[in-house]
Amino acid sequence: MMHQRSEAFFQQACKKIPGGVNSPVRAFSSANETPLFVDHASGSHIYDVDGNDYLDYICSWGPMILGHAHPLLTNHMQEVIEKGISYGLCAPEELVLADLIVDAYPGIDMVRMVNSGTEATMSAIRVARGYTGKDKIIKFEGCYHGHSDCLLVSSGSGALTFGTPTSPGVPEDVVKNTLVCEYNHIDSVKACIKANPHEIACIIIEPIAGNMGLVNADKKFLQDLRKLCEEEKIILIFDEVISGFRIAYGGAAQYYGVTPDMACFGKIIGAGLPVGAYGGKKAIMDMVSPSGPVYQAGTLSGNPLAMHLGVRLLTYLKQHPQVYEELNQKGAYLKEGIQDILNEYNLPYQIHQCGSLLTLFFTDHTIKSYRDVKDIDQKAFVSYFQYLYDHGILIAPSPYECMFLSTAHTMEELDHTLSIIKEALKRL
Ligand code: PMP
Repeated sequence: MMHQRSEAFFQQACKKIPGGVNSPVRAFSSANETPLFVDHASGSHIYDVDGNDYLDYICSWGPMILGHAHPLLTNHMQEVIEKGISYGLCAPEELVLADLIVDAYPGIDMVRMVNSGTEATMSAIRVARGYTGKDKIIKFEGCYHGHSDCLLVSSGSGALTFGTPTSPGVPEDVVKNTLVCEYNHIDSVKACIKANPHEIACIIIEPIAGNMGLVNADKKFLQDLRKLCEEEKIILIFDEVISGFRIAYGGAAQYYGVTPDMACFGKIIGAGLPVGAYGGKKAIMDMVSPSGPVYQAGTLSGNPLAMHLGVRLLTYLKQHPQVYEELNQKGAYLKEGIQDILNEYNLPYQIHQCGSLLTLFFTDHTIKSYRDVKDIDQKAFVSYFQYLYDHGILIAPSPYECMFLSTAHTMEELDHTLSIIKEALKRL
């Protein structure tokens, strides 16, 4: 495929935007490519500025559950915009979205809207610290919770892809209270708590990790975490920015039957507009300003357009539980197809799938935590990515990300994808 116009845009972008991109993973450099500049997107397809047509398995990193530009979301938007783009004041739609989230998510009584997943996790941590009066937090190696200072430690996603697990510019002093444990290893958490008695405010986790590639938490691990948190009076925070409303309507909490004290949401609840939210039990959320002393604010928080689209999407998902069945079936179909190809060519790689999320790990060992993904075969991934990309299949340009499916991906498209994957794997 030709990328002349994308390349020209990229050259210009590099002069005005650091690295030519507004978020690192978009650079495609970890797959030895230059970034794709998008012209438009529709259903399961992305069309670039050179007129190339890709089957899109990035889906804006999660929110496009129904595919791009779904009429449910795009119809009559002009009328909504004409009512005003931002008020910086309250509007009824905020209440509708809050109601939908509280109603969907186990154990959440109240919710505060913010503008991104980063803001959601950053604010939830502040509230957990304010509520408990403790400073230390536990996160897990390879989990990504956005780029706020105290969470940018042993991080996944772009931080993992670009090898900056803790970023320059984050003072030691700020991260000294961030303790890092091993995913799916309860003993590492127990040891950490023992070494820091009565000092830990919260544990934040992606209950379905999507930022070191897809790694599911073991149910027993989450249950043990839940128990530990109760015993030690530690707030358990589920970061559901990827899993919320995608894995199940009630997110990973519903999927596992484990209820956290707080939860964070992102892009999905705004159907792709810049939104996030954090919520929790009333006693905890009453700490948030102006009810309580923990300050957190946002000029654009609860933005009317974002609330409107979020309400449309969540209402649809609530009324159509079959969406989840369909996504699970499609995810399982792709997984089985890929596993068959791996078997046929005697390739030892690992295919992980949970609902509409998948990752093919280029390694021969079982993956339970970040330590298991560190030594994946980067060269094999790059060759695989490039073959797919050249043949109109767009996956994340990093081996540490997920493939995202939408209801717009048809069975024929999945079969076509499998035929391209087969050719790509055959060449390895
Ligand atoms: N948490 C998780 C689990 C994420 O995957 C992400 C980003 N994909 C974030 C937080 C940060 O969200 P945002 O990029 O909207 O700040």
